[in-house]
Amino acid sequence: SKKNGSNGFMLFDETMRESMALRNETLRDLKLALPKGQFELYYQPIYNLLTGEITKAEALIRWNHPERGMIRPDLFIQLSEESGMINELGEWIFHEAATQVAEWRAKYAPHLQVSINTSPIQYRDKGFDIKNWCAHLESLGLSGQALIVEITEGLLMESSSAVKAKLWGLRDAGIEVAIDDFGTGYSSLSYLKKFHIDYLKIDQSFVSNLSAHSEDFVLCEAITVMAHKLGCTVVAEGIETEEQSLLLKEAGCDYGQGYLFSRPIPASEFSALLSNVSRQ
Ligand code: C2E
Ligand code: CA
Ligand code: CA
Ligand code: CA
Repeated sequence: SKKNGSNGFMLFDETMRESMALRNETLRDLKLALPKGQFELYYQPIYNLLTGEITKAEALIRWNHPERGMIRPDLFIQLSEESGMINELGEWIFHEAATQVAEWRAKYAPHLQVSINTSPIQYRDKGFDIKNWCAHLESLGLSGQALIVEITEGLLMESSSAVKAKLWGLRDAGIEVAIDDFGTGYSSLSYLKKFHIDYLKIDQSFVSNLSAHSEDFVLCEAITVMAHKLGCTVVAEGIETEEQSLLLKEAGCDYGQGYLFSRPIPASEFSALLSNVSRQ
């Protein structure tokens, strides 16, 4: 426009002010979202690629904003990390997912596991005590096996003893641990073994361009061989086509999730899915 033609930094200035205003507004609303009950967990089924069974589900958070509608986590997780809110939110996610898996185990699938995403910030929080998690699981009659905790590659490399103690705390509670977005960050393979990591989740960036003779196929195969040798199970994410699913099975992947099978769905829809399967 003419306005920014004559004064180039004007537009930049206004855009910055606008984005700051939006950020502050989002932050203000975010702080109220928990007490107002605006968060919801969606669940994406995870399939055993060999048997086609649903054995797990990944919990993915959604924010039901009164004016802006359903907001995806990419738009608020970072903000809640920067503001420290993620610690409280992380506790809510754990409690909500545990309560949900208890219901599903009792009604439909006694061995179902729900996988929750965690932020590295949570492991640095002094208030985060695995003992409280164990007490909650016990009150629901659940073993740690009902949950899987997804962490990022980077967390494994953190040298702090407090972080390490928390990772060991999860292991001691019988909660399985998955490395999310495997292959996109930095991790030392020896750490996978040292912490007895249960699952590697192959990032969807390796899956989206998969074809029979592609480099990505070789990568998926190599990750799977290595994972199995280290005693890890492999989950592939972001499977959108039948071809990708077949190739991943061929590469030796154990589990898969993605739009080909199902998008993340509300708990009520996931219940319907489980009840259909269990009636068959
Ligand atoms: P992520 O953990 O890697 O989750 C996978 C993302 O891929 C999800 O996006 C999911 O909806 C999407 N997805 C699943 N299947 C497909 C597919 O076939 N194709 C494509 N294109 N996408 C697919 P979503 O739900 O928007 O979550 C984005 C990210 O936000 C997550 O990435 C995770 O890092 C973070 N996040 C989500 N929920 C939570 C949570 O409860 N706590 C924390 N700390 N982070 C969360
Ligand atoms: Ca994840
Ligand atoms: Ca992921
Ligand atoms: Ca991701």
